Amino acid sequence: MSDLILFWHRRDLRIADNTGLAAAQQQSPKVVGVFCLDPEILERDDVAPARVTYMLGCLQALQERYTQAGSQLLILHGNPVVAIPDLAVALKAQAVFWNWDVEPYSQKRDRDMIEALKSKSIQFLNQNWDQILHTPEEIRSGSGSPYTVYTPFWKNWISKKKANPVATLQDAEGLTEDEQKIAEQTGVIKLPTPKDLGFIWDGELIISPGEAAAKERLQAFTNSAITEYQEQRNFPAVDGTSQLSAALKFGVIGIRTVWQATIEALENSNSEEVTASIRTWQQELAWREFYQHAMYHFPELADGAYRDTFKNFPWENNEKYFQAWCEGKTGYPIVDAAMRQLNEIGWMHNRCRMIVASFLTKDLQINPQWGEKYFMQKLIDGDLSANNGGWQWSASSGMDPKPLRIFNPASQAQKFDPEGEYIRQWVSELRSMDTQHLVTGKIPPLERHAVGYPEPIVDHKIKQQQFKQLYQQQKGVSS
Ligand SMILES: Cc1cc2nc3c(=O)[nH]c(=O)nc-3n(C[C@H](O)[C@H](O)[C@H](O)COP(=O)(O)OP(=O)(O)OC[C@H]3O[C@@H](n4cnc5c(N)ncnc54)[C@H](O)[C@@H]3O)c2cc1C
Repeated sequence: MSDLILFWHRRDLRIADNTGLAAAQQQSPKVVGVFCLDPEILERDDVAPARVTYMLGCLQALQERYTQAGSQLLILHGNPVVAIPDLAVALKAQAVFWNWDVEPYSQKRDRDMIEALKSKSIQFLNQNWDQILHTPEEIRSGSGSPYTVYTPFWKNWISKKKANPVATLQDAEGLTEDEQKIAEQTGVIKLPTPKDLGFIWDGELIISPGEAAAKERLQAFTNSAITEYQEQRNFPAVDGTSQLSAALKFGVIGIRTVWQATIEALENSNSEEVTASIRTWQQELAWREFYQHAMYHFPELADGAYRDTFKNFPWENNEKYFQAWCEGKTGYPIVDAAMRQLNEIGWMHNRCRMIVASFLTKDLQINPQWGEKYFMQKLIDGDLSANNGGWQWSASSGMDPKPLRIFNPASQAQKFDPEGEYIRQWVSELRSMDTQHLVTGKIPPLERHAVGYPEPIVDHKIKQQQFKQLYQQQKGVSS
């Protein structure tokens, strides 16, 4: 057996501030990275081309980082539970290390991996939590149960001491030339392109792939926009948020590094407003963890509604409405702008995610799982826990104690896109329309016709009342 440790990367595509990787280097100087393109994930029908393109770009950058650190990142394509133990045996590795994950599929895969490694007498270490600041076991209520409500979760979470970033992989030993040949014979391949894997993304990515770009984005954000985040984060026409979600989803930046940047920003704060803004951004990071903990404790969330009222809800599920929603042709300008933003750049502003999710579920009365899946098919940051959490929150089917939340698209547009800038940016045929028409959605029929913009597919007022009645009926049935 050699002193080689294989480090299996999954949603931690970086060498800096990576807890499992740092632990591997503490045990041996010879650490080699491995990433396995898993067909079970890539062949699902909810994979976004933008997300795959970003991920492959991050893997390319990670290969360069490994080379700079003196080692290699090996790429496999196949069932990791077979491919990684086979590679470990062929290279006589002493151990395989990786970081834990919260998702049901990853947890099952981890259990299978442990069995496979054990059967080949290969050691493993998978107990490092890397992508979150606190483990699901650390944040529990006084009675010891997991939180189902965000505010008490936040109070507990923020009161706990957070870890500092861990050491970056450096001066590592890689594979010898002979070992590299063995690796190639055991399934190691050249990094494929998105096209090789059947994905085409022609658009720009909202964030460039790789650790350097993520770090730059974090620094730029925490040096300036974070100071006005509390106010600006609500306006989709403004660049007021970090746009770090894809980097956080794939672990292209360490969460401890992100946290440290917020602490430095707090130290530099010169007003109560700035401090409150930074705190608000920290709360978003806590929402991210809240949903990850929820997925860990309640994996059934991935399969549908949490609340009984919504378990057998009589959704209308009109296919034509759904198509119009997907294409951004509902006749509601703010909804259409948001859906077109999603389709064009693979990302949507948070305010608009809430607006379109409310519209799909409460106005069109379509099962939130349809929307959740469509988001996964498009989002560069598509993430099971955050996406599911967002959809359950918007559909009122989740753990949120507020019984019914219905967004009025016109009030939302008037409040958060008062000049219609965002609508004009994404719904090109409405660009020269009067602002009042845009934000109220009341476009005179002749003007609407002239530019070929659709009539509203439903009447918000009527649908809202209908939904409330339906909800009351269902509550009766489920209680
Ligand atoms: C219906 C719906 C679906 C969503 N789907 C996803 C998804 O698939 N992936 C995803 O990362 N986020 C999702 N979100 C949460 C949120 O919209 C995005 O995280 C945010 O818009 C990303 O932009 P940003 O990086 O500029 O965020 P910022 O405002 O800069 O926030 C910083 C980080 O905090 C986290 N965060 C912020 N808000 C939330 C939230 N409400 N829930 C969980 N984490 C949050 C993200 O990691 C984000 O990058 C969804 C929200 C809704 C309402």
